[in-house]
Amino acid sequence: MPCHRVRKVTSSDIAPSLCTTESHLLRMETKAAAAAGRRAHEGCDSDIIGWFEDACENAGAVQAEVLRRILAANRGTEYLSRWLGDVEVEGMGACALESLYRSRVPLASHADFEPFIQRIADGDTSPVLTQEPVQLLSLSSGTTDGRQKYVPFTRHSSQTTLQIFRIAAAYRSRVYPIGEGGRILEFIYSSKQSKTKGGLTAGTATTHYYSSEEFKIKQEKTKSFTCSPEEVISSCDYKQSTYCHLLLGLYFADRIEFITSTFAYSIVQAFRAFEDHWREICGDIRDGGLSPRITVERTRQAMLGIVSPNPSLAQRLEAACEELERKDWCGVIPKLWPKARYVYSIMTGSMQHYLTKLRHYAGGLPLVSADYGSTESWIGVNVDPSLPLERVTFAVVPTFSYFEFIPLHRQKNRSRSKNSEAIDDDFAEDEPVPLSQVKVGQEYEIVLTTFTGLYRYRLGDMVEVAGFHKHTPKLSFICRRKLILTVNIDKNTEKDLQLVVERGSQLLWKAMGELVDFTSHADISKQPGHYVIYWEIKGEVEEKVLGECCREMDASFEDHGYVVSRKCNSIGPLELCIVETGTFRKILDHFIGNGAALSQFKTPRCTSNQVLLSILNVCTVKRFYSTAYS
Ligand code: AMP
Repeated sequence: MPCHRVRKVTSSDIAPSLCTTESHLLRMETKAAAAAGRRAHEGCDSDIIGWFEDACENAGAVQAEVLRRILAANRGTEYLSRWLGDVEVEGMGACALESLYRSRVPLASHADFEPFIQRIADGDTSPVLTQEPVQLLSLSSGTTDGRQKYVPFTRHSSQTTLQIFRIAAAYRSRVYPIGEGGRILEFIYSSKQSKTKGGLTAGTATTHYYSSEEFKIKQEKTKSFTCSPEEVISSCDYKQSTYCHLLLGLYFADRIEFITSTFAYSIVQAFRAFEDHWREICGDIRDGGLSPRITVERTRQAMLGIVSPNPSLAQRLEAACEELERKDWCGVIPKLWPKARYVYSIMTGSMQHYLTKLRHYAGGLPLVSADYGSTESWIGVNVDPSLPLERVTFAVVPTFSYFEFIPLHRQKNRSRSKNSEAIDDDFAEDEPVPLSQVKVGQEYEIVLTTFTGLYRYRLGDMVEVAGFHKHTPKLSFICRRKLILTVNIDKNTEKDLQLVVERGSQLLWKAMGELVDFTSHADISKQPGHYVIYWEIKGEVEEKVLGECCREMDASFEDHGYVVSRKCNSIGPLELCIVETGTFRKILDHFIGNGAALSQFKTPRCTSNQVLLSILNVCTVKRFYSTAYS
């Protein structure tokens, strides 16, 4: 592997000085960093952009240094010793260490780390994965592959969250400057935290972040403050939190600069709730009261301490809502929040489905896609916030983790291997390459080595390199790599399904119906197996139209294995199940009940989870079978 001939990387390249706080790993050392620190404390966006651009310019060398730091900090841990023995990390050059690490430490999945993480959860304080004891465990949403996973969470995790939010805010404010001291209507939610057997606190990564110092610092540094107090964010009842977010958002309506959530789903669900509760909310603003539906005492107290009677605002809002209701809430956001400059949230990947509804609510207001990350590590930032959503990419932040990329090559007509591996899909893999060696146009699976004790960890996301920002790749998110729909030789990914559902739902839109949400299942309980797609729809749509939607979807799967199998009937006709209103809300409630947070919720696009399937099947009110290929 070629070494990077660039200037020596210092600590200030690894972390912007204003975010260094206590972490010794991220401490500033150089005069340059101190100077950067002074400038940064003046709250200047250009400083954080300058720091980030510098890191991107030297991305290859920064990455080698990040790896050296991770390994130096965790030398002698049980996991690393197993593979690296007692290699003197300190004495090695960053490039040599990078080669050694990649040749000795194997690629791993969450299952490989699970026994180690379990021991940590059970109270083992020996250096298992990291030298510094892990205090917090994060729970991934589990909604992408149906299983929630614990991963270590450290101060570094909160610090990188702060950093990415600051970088993104700085780029956004170049295009959409916002006033100092403005308010943000943020649909954010903490989940319940729990204690593991060993006494560690476990919760979602967003929950840890919202209760961290960094969340407060972020508001100061980005000069914008969330409307809702901590008591609302952490009420642990998402319906009550949503009501309060909306109420406060309207109470401060004239000061709201933008509307945001982690994933776009949360904004859509909030406005669906608003359609039902707006009269009550306006009533609360008029009287300075609070609906009895808010039962969490500390949330009630906090809300009542903020909202005082404002009859004129309530009257104005009521008049606007009456008019909006007649227009099916089209353009509700700019109408009620006249100063809002944009809507900001993750809108890529499985969130694409909610864009039609989000655009409907947002009127002409720009939709800005937020950044790319996971419970395991933040990955990339949207440095071109004005680009249309179809072209959104994420510039990898080279300081956050050590990133590798497994090249994936699409294989045509590969039949399913008998010895199915963990990942059985249509891609052949090449050897992983470091960040500095990725190629534009190539698809990859991301591999992470994190400051929190995950080493060469396969994230399971598939991305394509769309270009470069300086020398760091800009990634476009494709989908979760895990194969989702397969009966025999067919293989369809989440992305394939998304396209097919889009085609089918166009017919629905033409018939004035709306697709609220969807999921799917490969039913192999009977021969021949077949795909089942579940739709929750809004509006009265004729059965004939739904039958056409079903046929259109079946005919739209382009996967060769599927087409061939359908033609010879080794896969049966696609089944479209229409589920009753509120079914996907029940699915959400099921996940929330298991400790997921609304902030991280993603509807699983394919499921074989028995609880979910039983909810879906009990709620099915109509079934259609495709006539394509008949
Ligand atoms: P979680 O399980 O909650 O940690 O979710 C992390 C996963 O959400 C990632 O691995 C991605 O699959 C997905 N994700 C996160 N950010 C984005 C994004 N900007 N675009 C598309 N998908 C994303």
